[in-house]
Amino acid sequence: MKEALLNWYDKNKKPMPWRLNVDPYRIWISEVMLQQTQVTTVIPYYEKWMYQFPSVDMLAQADIEDVLKLWEGLGYYQRAHNIKKTAEIIINELEGDFPSNETLKALPGIGEYIYSAIMSIAFNAPTPVIDGNVKRVGSRFWEQQFISARDIKDLRIRLEEQISKKRAGCFNQAMMDLGREICKPINPECSQCPISSNCQSFQNKTIKLYPYKPKKKKIPLFDVVVGYIEDQNKRFIITKRPDEKMLGGLWELPGGKREKGESLRQGLTRELKEELDIGIAIQLKLGMVEHAYSHMKIKLHAYKCKIDNGTIKQRACQDLKWITKKDINKYSFPTANHKLFKKIGEC
Ligand code: SF4
Repeated sequence: MKEALLNWYDKNKKPMPWRLNVDPYRIWISEVMLQQTQVTTVIPYYEKWMYQFPSVDMLAQADIEDVLKLWEGLGYYQRAHNIKKTAEIIINELEGDFPSNETLKALPGIGEYIYSAIMSIAFNAPTPVIDGNVKRVGSRFWEQQFISARDIKDLRIRLEEQISKKRAGCFNQAMMDLGREICKPINPECSQCPISSNCQSFQNKTIKLYPYKPKKKKIPLFDVVVGYIEDQNKRFIITKRPDEKMLGGLWELPGGKREKGESLRQGLTRELKEELDIGIAIQLKLGMVEHAYSHMKIKLHAYKCKIDNGTIKQRACQDLKWITKKDINKYSFPTANHKLFKKIGEC
């Protein structure tokens, strides 16, 4: 398997900005960005990142606000917080040496996948990576379902037997590329596949059975309502989400989920009382946008309002600022808020 796979990789390897060299820092950042995100989306983010933070040292010294701003739109923001923490540990506690052993596993955000990717690509350690693409190729190649933790352990053992000891990183990248380019979820291009002669599901015509696809759970839909609270100088309030929450460290218009039985206006009034301890006078609806996360969908409604009573207290946010529309690009916001700003700008 490995010779055919590596020959195919040598001829078909796509030029990617993280493939210019095997610097562990560059490999690390690319692999974290590539988790849950497509290659074409990652490339411009990666290039901007490397321009602004070309080394672990520069990243460790950076302000988290700048890190989040560069990450804005990539999602799963905990990844950015973890990258920053890990860079600080490498510089402040490990004397700037990027770990090339088990120490790496103990760093924030370095799970089995990232560990294996860095170790194999940067240090040529025979540690197989297992992502969705590799699982699909493995499942079809061996005619096995790899679902439970025990199955994954079995897959890892099989891959350890196959992985090239001389070119471990290339083997891993070849498996991932094969899954992405050839052994696709639907209509795999088996006639182009370098390992088809040993692929059991291809030989037995059982490809459609592998891998097993569990039925998709219905994704819940929530109404979220936010306030565009303006003062006489056309400034409006933005609040910062707590670091440990979803979209942690990002800024947003204050508000929250509408509860059962509430109208949108009631929900907004309650949320702003809970979050900022203020009573509001709602003036008009500015618009609504829809946004899908991996685990939920939201309808995000915005109302223009003014403070009617009370003095602002930051009860459920990390920070608060009054800004004008021209300041929006200085802060990191979730994509749904940007969609809303676009709509509000049109009003
Ligand atoms: S032969 Fe087809 S099913 Fe088997 S690994 Fe190749 S592309 Fe996937």
